[in-house]
Amino acid sequence: MRRVTVFTLGGTISARGGDQARMSGAEVLAELGVAPAGVDVSLTDFRRVPSSSLGFEDLTALADEVGKAVAAGSGVVVVQGTDTLEETAFLLDLLCTTEEPVVVTGAMRRPDLPGADGPANLAAALAVAADPGCRELGVLVVLADEIHAARFAHKAHTTSVATFRSAGAGPLGAVVEGEPRIWLRPAVPSRICPLRIDPDIRIALLTLSLGDRGELLEAVADRFDGLVVAAFGAGHVPAWLVEPLAELTTRMPVVLASRTGTGATLSHTYRSPGSEYDLLHRGLIPAGPLAPAKARLLLHALLSSGAKGPAGYDRPRITAAFAHLDGAGLA
Ligand code: ASP
Repeated sequence: MRRVTVFTLGGTISARGGDQARMSGAEVLAELGVAPAGVDVSLTDFRRVPSSSLGFEDLTALADEVGKAVAAGSGVVVVQGTDTLEETAFLLDLLCTTEEPVVVTGAMRRPDLPGADGPANLAAALAVAADPGCRELGVLVVLADEIHAARFAHKAHTTSVATFRSAGAGPLGAVVEGEPRIWLRPAVPSRICPLRIDPDIRIALLTLSLGDRGELLEAVADRFDGLVVAAFGAGHVPAWLVEPLAELTTRMPVVLASRTGTGATLSHTYRSPGSEYDLLHRGLIPAGPLAPAKARLLLHALLSSGAKGPAGYDRPRITAAFAHLDGAGLA
């Protein structure tokens, strides 16, 4: 018998009727019908909320519990709403080890709607979490029978049951006839060292749009400890934002990500004012292929784990952590 601990947090899979009351964890599991063969499931009814209402206190408490379950030799399934699922999965990827499989799943259709996908996703997630072949892959996202690495998984459609995509990479595998098949393994783990989250650290995420005049940027300086800029294209901002961004880097780490959602930031293809070359030489740190919301979580974890001190921030360490996830220098 393989052991799997299930943590239910709410979300669509528990939103019968769509109103505020959510089903209990036991009710969500009961939708499976039959218990999965060969799997000893234990349940923690952790939260009952829409995933947009999850906060860092919830997720750090969850990471602690997931860590304990893994250390006790149990696989883990986290069940939550899909809206912020990729952020929970990536945060767990940074905070938890996966010597037992850790899987995050959810549903796109309410349990009372035709074709509800919750039970199928839960069954697939349990199969992955119970399979020793899915150890040491980092945290996984399983929906629509696809197995994605947390660092790439992205909710790409508002309603499709196959909403998750591994942007710029592709899924690691699939669940076929109820059994996991793994085709690819991440080249490096996301978690390179023990990391934690200090809920008091504040990281801003600023998505640029045409004609941005910098008013929101002005609001960042005194309120936040770090900034991720979701810039245009491969890492570009209007020329008039270069000075304010460069000034901010003297006070806090400023990470340059792309608002496109797929592909890595560049470093030296464009050299005009506001180009990636200009910004990186003015002190910004490249996010590589990490999506802006995930770059925000990595920066948050790094600043919570010693990359920030009285003398400022540890720019080389933060730069190296982002470069590590960019797949460079692996030869
Ligand atoms: N998709 C939403 C979520 O992520 C649905 C909800 O309010 O349950 O939780």
